[in-house]
Amino acid sequence: MPIYEYKCNKCGATFEALIRSSSEAPQCPECNSKEVGRLMSAPAASHSEGSSGGHSHSCGCGCNCHCH
Ligand SMILES: [Zn+2]
Repeated sequence: MPIYEYKCNKCGATFEALIRSSSEAPQCPECNSKEVGRLMSAPAASHSEGSSGGHSHSCGCGCNCHCH
């Protein structure tokens, strides 16, 4: 169960909410508003191996860049 960070659109408070299902909308603990937006603080689930997948040295220029 991931924990996401939310910001209330009404009072501006930020809070963390544990989301059990993707359709579940959290509620602001300050003003009980449900007009909240999720912040882009990704939980620790990111394998930072590039977005295209696989091993990334395919540009053929001999370096280790991502120039292609
Ligand atoms: Zn609020």
